[in-house]
Amino acid sequence: MVLGPARAWSRVVVDGAGRLARDLADDLRVAGVGSVTGGVFALDAELRLTDHRPDLAVLVTGAPCRPGVAAPLLARGIPHLPVTVHELEVVVGPLVLPGRSACLRCLALVGGTGACGTAYGSPARPGVSDGDAVVAHPTTAVVDPALHAFARATATMTICAALSEECPPGVTLEVSVPWPRPVQRVWSPHPRCRCGAFDASRYPLGREWTA
Ligand SMILES: [Zn+2]
Repeated sequence: MVLGPARAWSRVVVDGAGRLARDLADDLRVAGVGSVTGGVFALDAELRLTDHRPDLAVLVTGAPCRPGVAAPLLARGIPHLPVTVHELEVVVGPLVLPGRSACLRCLALVGGTGACGTAYGSPARPGVSDGDAVVAHPTTAVVDPALHAFARATATMTICAALSEECPPGVTLEVSVPWPRPVQRVWSPHPRCRCGAFDASRYPLGREWTA
């Protein structure tokens, strides 16, 4: 799917608990996104509506998403954006365009890490099941206020850019305390991933690098 509808006609779901998810949904409404739904398990509810498919799903989590969390989105071709918040670090992205850019399983195969070095394929926190259900890791962490502001602003800009097809897929933006040095990473589709994004003629072996 190509993200192309005008922002005013777009449908975005912000799935997650906590202050950041709420603030992000509010900002998107103020920014003029046509339909914004949010809350814990908001995506599960949205996906049950067969005639209402979101243009973009935002997963606000307290730990890097396991690939299984996004499996229903990949299967339905729904673009998605993880936003991972930790007490000391936030990671926005990557925007995943199913079948066209690196997915979360691609990142796990590369051995990539998210917030505070936690691997993308690491076990979910106890009591949280992912499987093939959409269960974002809930976060109630107390985030540094400056990090919260960074995550809120960066995620809003990224989402609005994605809706106007101006957001590069497969890119993460990270910042941690105390020094606000944004790190941008670009992720290639991995040849052993079954998401279909790997194109041997275009990409080298799946790898990670810092731009
Ligand atoms: Zn993949």
